[in-house]
Amino acid sequence: MAKITRKPAQRKAAVPKKKAKAAKPRPAKKSAPAKKSLKAIKPWTPAEIQEVFSRFRKANPEPKGELEHLNPFTLLVAVVLSAQATDAGVNKATRELFKVADTPQKMLDLGEERLRDYIKTIGLYRTKARNVIALSAKLLSDFGGEVPRTRAEIESLPGAGRKTANVVLNMAFGEHTMAVDTHVFRVGNRTGLAPGKTPLDVELGLEKVIPAEFMLHAHHWLILHGRYTCLARKPRCDVCLINDLCRWPEKTV
Ligand code: SF4
Repeated sequence: MAKITRKPAQRKAAVPKKKAKAAKPRPAKKSAPAKKSLKAIKPWTPAEIQEVFSRFRKANPEPKGELEHLNPFTLLVAVVLSAQATDAGVNKATRELFKVADTPQKMLDLGEERLRDYIKTIGLYRTKARNVIALSAKLLSDFGGEVPRTRAEIESLPGAGRKTANVVLNMAFGEHTMAVDTHVFRVGNRTGLAPGKTPLDVELGLEKVIPAEFMLHAHHWLILHGRYTCLARKPRCDVCLINDLCRWPEKTV
């Protein structure tokens, strides 16, 4: 049997190596909690949570939302318009709008085209105008012109999701719901009160740990805390009234 001899491997012609692309420096995500530190966070005790919300209550006993409205319908419309927009921007548009359309029937009478004119300074205004007209029609056809009082019914309205339902149930009907916006999501995670990967995780986590006596206002305390103190880029830990209890490893006090 002929012996198979292997040829020495041919050397490939030397190809000049491409210069490795310099990796672009990525901006540090300051608002997101570090994964390791989240796991290592010591759970809050009931006494600490009681203390935190007692401080919020003492500082601001009757916190108010900043979306201007006249009744449950205009609140619902304002919340639908506020998706990916600031409350100040929505208020600027709705101040004039609600003078002429503060009920579902008046909104339908106004019509989609004229509604667009009122809200054209708000992002996604075309889609939002279509939704507001459609939800007004549905309120009239299915709910006697009133804003319904259950989550499922509110979520069935065009443009209304879980957050909208939570805001309306809380602000219009006094229910103990927790609407999680970007501020509440950040504060829930940073403080360690209710760490979670999704708004729903944080919502359920907060509902679980916050005592019932604070739930009516908890949503607004946390929003205002995130909006004015626990800012996304530069949290103002030095003036934060819960800085001794906050679990964020990067807090600056
Ligand atoms: S101490 Fe800093 S990070 Fe913690 S809640 Fe207060 S502002 Fe936010």
